[in-house]
Amino acid sequence: MHSLENIRCMNDAVLLIYTGGTIGMKMNPEIGSLSPFNFDQIVEEVPELRKFNVRIDTMAFDPIIDSSNLRPEVWSKIAAVIKDNYDKYDGFVILHGTDTMAYSASALSFMTANLTKPIIFTGSQLPIGELRTDGKENLITAIEIAAARDPQGKPYVSEVCVYFQNQLFRGNRTTKYNAEHFRAFRSPNYPPLAEAGINIHYNTPYIYPMAGMNTEFDVSTEMSPDVVVIKIFPGISAHIFESILSIDWLKGVVLETYGSGNAPTDKWFMNAIRSAVERGVIVVNVTQCQAGSVEMARYETGVGLLDAGVVSGYDITCEAAVTKLMYLIGQKISDCEIKRLMNVSIRGEISPKS
Ligand code: ASP
Repeated sequence: MHSLENIRCMNDAVLLIYTGGTIGMKMNPEIGSLSPFNFDQIVEEVPELRKFNVRIDTMAFDPIIDSSNLRPEVWSKIAAVIKDNYDKYDGFVILHGTDTMAYSASALSFMTANLTKPIIFTGSQLPIGELRTDGKENLITAIEIAAARDPQGKPYVSEVCVYFQNQLFRGNRTTKYNAEHFRAFRSPNYPPLAEAGINIHYNTPYIYPMAGMNTEFDVSTEMSPDVVVIKIFPGISAHIFESILSIDWLKGVVLETYGSGNAPTDKWFMNAIRSAVERGVIVVNVTQCQAGSVEMARYETGVGLLDAGVVSGYDITCEAAVTKLMYLIGQKISDCEIKRLMNVSIRGEISPKS
């Protein structure tokens, strides 16, 4: 772990964890493409970091990864680093590729319980070494939010968030929706937790309450890989659908359905789902729509799924649904308990009114 120089005040400290992604890259003239720079030299790339009134320690994963290559082991590694350093820092900033950031922020929100400190994911669309980079602002404001305290000395946020282009979001509500714009993330079913302009305005009523004094911060690193996401579409093949659902070791399915949770009523389709559910597979219904909620009782095409034992994901994102399933299955709790917990919010990933 490395400390940045010119520290003004040693009382508050933020741990900056670089896992990979565009933000930590620079054009390598020798090979003519982007490659990661030595993260120990971050202060040379962002000299503004010297002006912070908090200590910023940095650590880089080895190897650093393009987030498209991410596997749950990386989430476990991030969770373990936070656990080992939890008492030493006031907040954590995780630099991460944008491609799977919404999955990682969702996963970490489930893997960490009873948080009293902010964990802020950020990254960039353009490398930090480029003139027009969005990375500097994202990094600087993410650190500022991770270190910020209200007049009572409490953090403004104590949950897993994504900070991108002036907006702070609940991590498990985000989705990457733009591959081009600097504003790459959206939180379609939940308002931003903060907006950064001249000042940073916190949207306090929407921020997850800080864990109580008599709870203990807890980390779970067990994530089950035995899950799949199936997006239905007109003409989906019975053979392919049945084959996937009859895989022996399959434990969880996120079914991306139409509109408010509707799917074909074909016999083969319903039978495949019914027999998977009877085998103990947890099937969760999420909508393919960018925003809104599943409401299975609304149409006949949704009622069938409900009767077959499919669990409503309400307004959860697909990213949060799949990582929540991985987390809950990894907890080795009963199927009945997994279904119950998939149906309710455990970290603010489902809206109360859903
Ligand atoms: N492929 C990169 C990644 O996700 C893209 C990025 O960082 O924006 O790691």
